[in-house]
Amino acid sequence: MSHSSDNAPQPTQPQHAQHGLHPKAETVADFQRHLAAVHARIAQACQRVGREPASVRLLPVSKTMDEPTLRLAYAAGLRQFGENKVQEAHRKWEAMADLADLRWSVIGHMQTNKAKLVAKFAAEFQALDSLRAAEALDRRLQAEGRSLDVFVQVNTSGEASKYGLNPADVAGFLRGLPVYSALRVRGLMTLALFSSEAARVRPCFVLLRTLRDRLRQDAPAGISLGELSMGMSGDFELAIEEGATVVRVGQAIFGARSLPDSHYWPTTPPQTPEPE
Ligand SMILES: *Cc1c(COP(=O)(O)O)cnc(C)c1O
Repeated sequence: MSHSSDNAPQPTQPQHAQHGLHPKAETVADFQRHLAAVHARIAQACQRVGREPASVRLLPVSKTMDEPTLRLAYAAGLRQFGENKVQEAHRKWEAMADLADLRWSVIGHMQTNKAKLVAKFAAEFQALDSLRAAEALDRRLQAEGRSLDVFVQVNTSGEASKYGLNPADVAGFLRGLPVYSALRVRGLMTLALFSSEAARVRPCFVLLRTLRDRLRQDAPAGISLGELSMGMSGDFELAIEEGATVVRVGQAIFGARSLPDSHYWPTTPPQTPEPE
């Protein structure tokens, strides 16, 4: 139940209570209805802060969904899919190669040994978090004669289990990227703290935006930081209010996933934490 039918403006709250409750899209009409609802939520969030809805790109996240479901989504008009695991994304890309205008976005951590796959099919990689990965991707892209839009992933929640660079390390990281000429750096990406309290979620988005604003002033040549990829089904309104230009939305479009999020997100630290 949305709170937006009240006339008095109310502070935006995360909708994680909906988590796991989204109805599954099983027909083209289901997709059209879910998409209309998401676009309406985007428009309302934009209106609250005086932004144009066209300034927010909706990236539908299709992870765990099977090929027939993706084909229904395509029939409903979707032309890009975000996937969190490289091999799953590559498999779907191969199976759906007949849909030539479909773009694939890899939004989850990439092991370096998967760079070759990503370089083959991805139009965008949103989880760049190491120079090793940048080097591996660039080398494979050069071999393929391709280039790739990339986002640098930042850990804004301070949780040890989340991938992404420490905010303090991003400036130095960006200075290392211009040598990788096949990578077109577009902006920053983050996953906020997963909480139903806006007061705990919003600071993650504010951190990413202020970091971007600060770094943009003297970004290395060729590095563009126009894009902020932040916000998912439960929190994209907050992210839009704080400046998101890309929202990554899965369950509100496709329906609840049957696999738990722990299958897709690390629950153990990705690397040994450094002593403080
Ligand atoms: C799954 C996922 C999303 C989308 O989450 P939903 O709750 O399905 O909207 C967004 N970003 C990343 C990195 C994801 O893995």
